[in-house]
Amino acid sequence: MKIKRVLIGLEIHVELKTKSKMFCGCSAESFGKEPNTQTCPTCLGLPGALPVPNKRAIEMAVLIGKALNCKTTLKSQFDRKNYFYPDLPKGYQISQHEYNLPFSTGGWVETKLKDRTKRIGIKRAHLEEDTGKSIHTEVQGEKVTLLDFNKSGIPLVEIVSEPDIESSEEAVFYCVKIRKIIKYLDFSDCDMEKGQMRFEPTINLLIDDGVKAFYTPLVEIKNINSFRFLRKALDYEIDRQFRQFSKDRAVKTSGNKTTRGYDQERMVTFEQRHKEEAEEYRYFPEPDIPPFEWSEDQLAVFSTQLSKVELPNIVEKRFKEKYGLTDEQTEILTEDKRLVRYFEETAKKLQNQKTKQQSLIKLLANFIVNKRVDLTKISPEKLAKMIIDETEKKALPPEKVIKIVQQVVEENRKAVEDYRRGRQGVIEFLLGQVMRQTKGTADPSQARKIIIMIVENLKK
Ligand code: ZN
Ligand code: MN
Repeated sequence: MKIKRVLIGLEIHVELKTKSKMFCGCSAESFGKEPNTQTCPTCLGLPGALPVPNKRAIEMAVLIGKALNCKTTLKSQFDRKNYFYPDLPKGYQISQHEYNLPFSTGGWVETKLKDRTKRIGIKRAHLEEDTGKSIHTEVQGEKVTLLDFNKSGIPLVEIVSEPDIESSEEAVFYCVKIRKIIKYLDFSDCDMEKGQMRFEPTINLLIDDGVKAFYTPLVEIKNINSFRFLRKALDYEIDRQFRQFSKDRAVKTSGNKTTRGYDQERMVTFEQRHKEEAEEYRYFPEPDIPPFEWSEDQLAVFSTQLSKVELPNIVEKRFKEKYGLTDEQTEILTEDKRLVRYFEETAKKLQNQKTKQQSLIKLLANFIVNKRVDLTKISPEKLAKMIIDETEKKALPPEKVIKIVQQVVEENRKAVEDYRRGRQGVIEFLLGQVMRQTKGTADPSQARKIIIMIVENLKK
């Protein structure tokens, strides 16, 4: 009995950084605000209120799709997803149904784990609205649930992958990649502590029992809000499904998807909804918002907008090729755009130094990767100076270089003769000797100057 394959698909929800909400004029910056102060009849779902789509949110959603190599759907529409929950005041969420016309379909992102490069397929990326927030608490000794609708109606992009992910490690890698792309676009801060990015993996296994292979039923894990919990929940679930279904093949393959939650304290997943209660959302086209159809001009505008953004893959390529950094260093140094700017500004300062450019860049990468400096306190100028000072400290002091040059000249009288007769190449020969004697610790440009000075002096 063994696991032949792990199949993981991911739904990622990302709150967009727009000024106003998805279908009304309320501020979309809700975090930390007094409850229910950023609301209006539309995002409270009051009868008769009409939604007006946020143009910027739609642009962002389409551009995220394009950055994930999706095709932009020429005709598109919003749909109603009906379900009852206290934090959903309208009784439905305005979303986009997968078989109707989501904004983007059929993309991919590349992952690289243990030197294996692979594409993870993206089924679709669509736009919807966030719900309110339930706060379970106690008021005057009584257990109550309070509702805050500040977050209700914030634009939310949902990115759905194919079940191409094969391990918890790969799932995290994929999510890190998606987060990086959206942060480079500057469409969300993807701050997971503020709930701006949430994960819902769906997972099952292909188990080989020695006779034949069978699939375990799908399990969806709801609302995970950190990379650490994503990895732990998946590892737990892989183990749990294998234990359950390798023991009892009778309960196996049949049935719908079940939904489980992740208990952060006990570090286990637990069943939330049974398959008999499988959800039926009764999707239908949103009657208050007409369908979209993109013109050629508008599609061209999207392409131009995207071409103005430097996406992570371009920056990563430059860091490896131009600066000669490893995959690992590149991963860390390109994590966000501010760090990229900081690194490149410092590198530029170091490039004015004629010698040992590559080793200075390596030292710079090392300083940042190993957190040897606090980047919020030290300017690129100052860091460049620190790095140059450090290399010079390591370099042999000039008085020692002079001594060794004198010695080398003494031992190579014939070469000095040749120089006197006009053979310039002798200097390089002597420099080679000096570098060998000092085991490379002399600064070559300084050593060259000293050699010329001494040999010229002998001429007189
Ligand atoms: Zn509102
Ligand atoms: Mn959703």
